[in-house]
Amino acid sequence: MKQLRETDKIHCLFDIPVKLSIKKVENVLRLKKLRRVSADAEKIISEVFPLIKARASYRVCYITRRGKDWIQLEGRRFASRILRDNVRDIERVFPYIITIGDGVESRACDETELLKQYFMETVADMVLISARAHLLSHLKKKYRIKRLSNMSPGSLKDWPITEQRPLFDLMEEGSIKIQVQLTETMLMLPRKSLSGIYFSTEKDFISCQLCPRNSCIGRMAEFDKKMSEHYQMD
Ligand code: SF4
Repeated sequence: MKQLRETDKIHCLFDIPVKLSIKKVENVLRLKKLRRVSADAEKIISEVFPLIKARASYRVCYITRRGKDWIQLEGRRFASRILRDNVRDIERVFPYIITIGDGVESRACDETELLKQYFMETVADMVLISARAHLLSHLKKKYRIKRLSNMSPGSLKDWPITEQRPLFDLMEEGSIKIQVQLTETMLMLPRKSLSGIYFSTEKDFISCQLCPRNSCIGRMAEFDKKMSEHYQMD
């Protein structure tokens, strides 16, 4: 039987374990401020967790061509100067899609109490971020990489959401396996999904460094004015 090359393989992680600390949920939902007791955080978690099916798909790809502000992977062109700069010295990258399924969004949709709906959606977002951290650890361990950074289409003006199209073309088989679709408007379904490209770096790159948005629960790094000016992000 013909052996698949590493670059032809579609890797999938099913049943990604999900964990959240009660304290973190309390803080993000500001339950203490809202004078809700800690048991509420436990209750929300216990309602949300059974609805989650966290799974991910990724590939190992090599950059075949590069231009001033684009790179090419397996014949698909990705247009972003920042992505191009970030992978300047490397060949191998890991495109991925990750989802926690549509269980929580369906349940939240049926919820009549708006605050509870918000709590469920927020906890689901936290779980999705934690599931992506699991994927990150998996990649680091499996490929023995010390530091990996991520970029996602749509997170920066430099790499717009329309770049989901080549990413989903590249990840077509994986997206079918983990049941994530891309709509005409570039929305992922289930909504609680993330996509992007991981790449090894000497120094961490986090898109949040170039994003001025306030009050985002997903923020993982402070806004870096100097870097933003360098890329003329304003
Ligand atoms: S701050 Fe929030 S919106 Fe901005 S890049 Fe980070 S996670 Fe995305």
